[in-house]
Amino acid sequence: MVREKLVKGFREGIVVPEGLIAHGRGEAFDYILGEKSRDFALRAERAAVALMMLSRKPVISVNGNAAALVAKELSELSDVLKVPVEVNVFHWSRERVERIAEWLKENGCKNVLYAGDAVIEEIEHCRRIVDKRGIYSADTVLVMLEDGDRCEILRRSGKKVIAVDLNPLSRTSKMADITVVNNVTRAIPEMVKFAKEMKSCSRDELKELVNSYSNESTIREALKAIADYVLSV
Ligand code: ATP
Ligand code: MG
Repeated sequence: MVREKLVKGFREGIVVPEGLIAHGRGEAFDYILGEKSRDFALRAERAAVALMMLSRKPVISVNGNAAALVAKELSELSDVLKVPVEVNVFHWSRERVERIAEWLKENGCKNVLYAGDAVIEEIEHCRRIVDKRGIYSADTVLVMLEDGDRCEILRRSGKKVIAVDLNPLSRTSKMADITVVNNVTRAIPEMVKFAKEMKSCSRDELKELVNSYSNESTIREALKAIADYVLSV
């Protein structure tokens, strides 16, 4: 069913062929993680939600694959957290960006940014094209299926980066402030649930969740989980 969603997205011009390859890479990691949300992923998801709630200007960056897989769930997350969704793609064309934005709106997204009216100079590829009101001026960016180069530049420009990435060894996973080593299809609905639960948390409680979080531990635990799982079957 997940693959069908991507194929449909591909036929509709939302997903690019490179996205299909990236998904295959993700699936391979999901397989050796046991295809379930692990404790370290749930902890990272809670810390990620807390960080978004504490941020001055958070934004959810969405590419073609993410839109094809979890448009409804991303819309809900955007709604619960009152955070805009920005269409940001590696393979850019005005037409494709508009198509993804339209798809997100059809799936309930009320706050979609895709103006492409600003540029992050340091990024060499098309992901440099951003929205002034979104990634350009954001203090925290939630990314998924992210490229390592951009993650590094976003970090260097002083932004906090939350990544959802099934590969704990990717540059993105290592560079991000918070890495959710989980499939977006599980991570985003779980984050919606946590965001609803955590609405009643005080700022101090949210800060404690963020401050006690260690991304190094997450990566280590993810690698250990893979090793244990692979050796146990
Ligand atoms: P990096 O540039 O960060 O070193 P990369 O070049 O291997 O990583 P990219 O194509 O830049 O890979 O990023 C895509 C990432 O998204 C990969 O790490 C892949 O494992 C991950 N991925 C693919 N599908 C999913 C999914 N459904 N959920 C979460 N992560 C996924
Ligand atoms: Mg890459």
